[in-house]
Amino acid sequence: MGARALCARRAGRMIYKSVAIVGAGFSGSLLAINILRHAGPHATLIERRPVFGRGTAYTAPHPSHLLNVRAGNMSALSDRPAHFADWCAARGLGDGGSFVQRKQYGEYLGELLERSAARAGERLRLVQDEAVSAAVGDDAVTVGLAGGERLRVDALVVAVGNLPPHPPPGLDPAALPGDVYAPDPWDPGVVEGLTADDTVLLVGTGLTMVDVALSLDAAGFAGRIVALSRRGLLPRPHVAPGPPGDRNEKPATVASALLAEVRSRADRLGWRAAVDELRPFTQGLWLSATEDQRSRFLRHLRPWWDVHRHRLAPQVAARIEAMMAAGRLEIVGGKPRAYTPRGSGVDVTYRPRGADADATLHVRRIVNCTGPQGDLARSTEPALKSLIESGHARADAQRLGLDVDAQSRLVGANGQAHPRLFALGPMTRGAFWEIVAVPDIRTQVWTVARRLAQAHWVEAEGL
Ligand SMILES: Cc1cc2nc3c(=O)[nH]c(=O)nc-3n(C[C@H](O)[C@H](O)[C@H](O)COP(=O)(O)OP(=O)(O)OC[C@H]3O[C@@H](n4cnc5c(N)ncnc54)[C@H](O)[C@@H]3O)c2cc1C
Repeated sequence: MGARALCARRAGRMIYKSVAIVGAGFSGSLLAINILRHAGPHATLIERRPVFGRGTAYTAPHPSHLLNVRAGNMSALSDRPAHFADWCAARGLGDGGSFVQRKQYGEYLGELLERSAARAGERLRLVQDEAVSAAVGDDAVTVGLAGGERLRVDALVVAVGNLPPHPPPGLDPAALPGDVYAPDPWDPGVVEGLTADDTVLLVGTGLTMVDVALSLDAAGFAGRIVALSRRGLLPRPHVAPGPPGDRNEKPATVASALLAEVRSRADRLGWRAAVDELRPFTQGLWLSATEDQRSRFLRHLRPWWDVHRHRLAPQVAARIEAMMAAGRLEIVGGKPRAYTPRGSGVDVTYRPRGADADATLHVRRIVNCTGPQGDLARSTEPALKSLIESGHARADAQRLGLDVDAQSRLVGANGQAHPRLFALGPMTRGAFWEIVAVPDIRTQVWTVARRLAQAHWVEAEGL
């Protein structure tokens, strides 16, 4: 037994010799890499897709799908901030200020994972299968795989990414003609079977909508695209970075005071800097907010926050503007009210924002671009269901994902965090809010890896 494990055992702390990680997107793959870097427990990384280290975001097949964060902020490694920018520079893809292809970021992650796996020998096992159950005992967690294998491990980490969105309210997929409704915006089939006379409705006007509009454009779709959301807000573009904000003091914690503060700083610094300088404080603000404050933020401010905080690469914004200027893409504010099948398409009745009468649009296809809004209580994912049914996991109070404590440990039905169960990434938004992009997830992953490796204790160092 190593010195770290010996110290931990003497202090009565949990020692992890083996861990199963479900999901090999950014979060799960990076956890495996960091566990190895910290000489942590044996890890089994389970992924149901054929490719590891990409996940939903970085599988993006099309070159027009760019990162919405500059390369200089996209290092996977918290302790080597220039790692990705250097990787790009070495391949002639750009420098720290570039917005590179998401696919290339996937290649970067894939390479990093491959290199780690090659060095790890039997300390890392990659298993292509689906985790379908998790039985939690006092001494171990047993993870069941669809292929029949059962893995007995000391800890389980859930890194399954966002839950898929539900159909928009009022839309019953079974009541529509066969290929009208596209529930998965990244399915290549979204563009199939369309002609120049068709209209496609994108429900949602955020980053997912932008991806689908670009995919339709790239596939040569010459018809009309209408993107509809309650407020019709489009993500704002990045511009060349200005001087960093000069905020030293903590922002106000009362939402109305914070809003006034941000507005006044935006007048002085520009809105981008005023939003960006909140970044180091956002998790703290969320953690200290009451559930009532969180609900009010989600109800009233979230759409505005999302479009100012999660921005478009300048090249992407320019293409979207060009599509709008050419009349090929319309952004509409309004609320869908009914979907009535007609011919090979659907009449969509909606109430335009601010209007007092409904409008109707005949569309050939409807693509769900509402983004990661899945409700855990409605999830059909067997592994998550098994954790919820056994009381070892529950939805957070705002129903944004899984409830976790400050150490990213799953909180069960009894309100207690379990020392053998962890979750990472966007599913932990209820606890941290600002935990959907690489710069935040890599910090969370680093911390959890150090905990699993017993590397977070400093007393043995004599400090
Ligand atoms: C389209 C898009 C673009 C983005 N662009 C950026 C960006 O430019 N910059 C940035 O900083 N952030 C970006 N993000 C945000 C962020 O980087 C991602 O959300 C992040 O990659 C999340 O990774 P993840 O591993 O938690 O989830 P995912 O990437 O969703 O990975 C989860 C993996 O788990 C697997 N899985 C799920 N259930 C099971 C199971 N039961 N058994 C086995 N495997 C399972 C899935 O197949 C999947 O591969 C983007 C997100 C999206 C969706």
